[in-house]
Amino acid sequence: MGDDLFRLTVHEAAHLLARREVSSRELTAAVLDRLQGVEGQLNAFVTLTPELALEQARQADERLARGEDVTPLTGIPAAIKDVICTLGVRTTCGSRMLENFVPPYDATVIVRLKRAGLVMVGKTNMDEFAMGSSGENSYFGPTRNPWDRERVPGGSSSGSAAAVAADACLYALGSDTGGSIRQPAALCGIVGLKPTYGRVSRYGLVAFASSLDQIGPMTKDVTDAALVLQAIAGHDPNDSTSAPVEVPDYAAGLVPDVKGLRIGVPREYMGEGVEEGVRQAVTDAIERLAEMGAEVDWEASLPSTPYALACYYIIAPSEASANLARYDGVKYGYSYTEGASMWENMERTRQFGFGAEVKRRIMLGTYALSAGYYDAYYLKAQKVRTLIRREFESAFQRYDVLLTPVSPTPAFRLGEKLEDPLQMYLSDVFTIPVNIAGLPAISVPCGFSQGLPVGLQVIGRPFDEATVLRVAYAYEQAAGWRHRRPPL
Ligand code: GLN
Repeated sequence: MGDDLFRLTVHEAAHLLARREVSSRELTAAVLDRLQGVEGQLNAFVTLTPELALEQARQADERLARGEDVTPLTGIPAAIKDVICTLGVRTTCGSRMLENFVPPYDATVIVRLKRAGLVMVGKTNMDEFAMGSSGENSYFGPTRNPWDRERVPGGSSSGSAAAVAADACLYALGSDTGGSIRQPAALCGIVGLKPTYGRVSRYGLVAFASSLDQIGPMTKDVTDAALVLQAIAGHDPNDSTSAPVEVPDYAAGLVPDVKGLRIGVPREYMGEGVEEGVRQAVTDAIERLAEMGAEVDWEASLPSTPYALACYYIIAPSEASANLARYDGVKYGYSYTEGASMWENMERTRQFGFGAEVKRRIMLGTYALSAGYYDAYYLKAQKVRTLIRREFESAFQRYDVLLTPVSPTPAFRLGEKLEDPLQMYLSDVFTIPVNIAGLPAISVPCGFSQGLPVGLQVIGRPFDEATVLRVAYAYEQAAGWRHRRPPL
């Protein structure tokens, strides 16, 4: 079995480690080998940290030998999206601006994972500052989809999704502002969970849009998503938006039972623009849950859905324009110094340090916030945001979860949407409303269209990740897609 250790899930590997049938060093060596073997085809990583991983594995083995402080993640090789600060390991955000930035501290999620026994194999590639849906906006070149290397893996957590799908790590962290965990998870055939806004600390997550950003797990199955969420969730005094809400035992709640569960299928998510194979796979999945005893209402409605994308593309760029003001070439990061004045240096720093999409967002946001336009755009978008949130609230009085496709299409070709930002933005029509309302949602594999993976989205009530995970788990156990692997 030694050769195939990299194929294990977290919970499978944890069993072997706990019984001392394999060591973390063996497991880590197998994963690093696999990673080296596939990385040339995928470009899923910006930075590899093999020495660090082997050292952390050695420490994990000591802990396992003592039988102390052992968690399900102890000694398990993981990959971290390069938007999450790691002490002493450069954190680029996929940008030239931070190409050589080495954080002097760990993000809270990293502190928690280290406490749980983290083995970090590297930092994953991503759309620059998490802006994008294909991975193509990275300064470090695009990541390729393990199922078809001519296609994108989705984004912005492109490298994390590709790495998990290709067994180049056992789990990964991503971040999701408008779909960046769920959409690439769907396109790469893995599980991706965006927790409720406030469930996971954002301390040390480089900010894109602070009222929307959340960190979450990207894993090979639902059980692993529960285990990783368990390790990173909970209140953090360093993040005032993290909620002092109790964290339940997620793994214990994973029972394959949906009897009597009330499921709403919002019709706005199944109409125009949804590719036929996606619609079929999602419909089959929901019918499967109905056969298992769930009560499905196919006529649920969230009427403001068509405004969510426009609302997001005012709010997210507005927040981004403020958050990215800090990259001035003075404090840290890329710095142009050849100019005649401080102002010229600052201008050139931003001109050369940021890529085209990031500049587009900064301009959109600056415009939307400027005097005279603020009321027409930003204030209006905030009002629409409230409407969208209320519609979800009233839907959740009738339903326990809402089911939708994650992405309207399977993975598209590299380059296909690069020239047309609106087409690119439309990749996230079904994931963005969830961020606007701050809700938890998961992408779980539900079949294939044109030979490419399709994801089912399960949306839940605020802080009810437990129900979201249970529905995804019940479906996953019944359907068994998890055993189909990409041809690498
Ligand atoms: N694709 C969306 C965007 O470009 C969402 C990105 C994200 O969730 N970080 O803004």
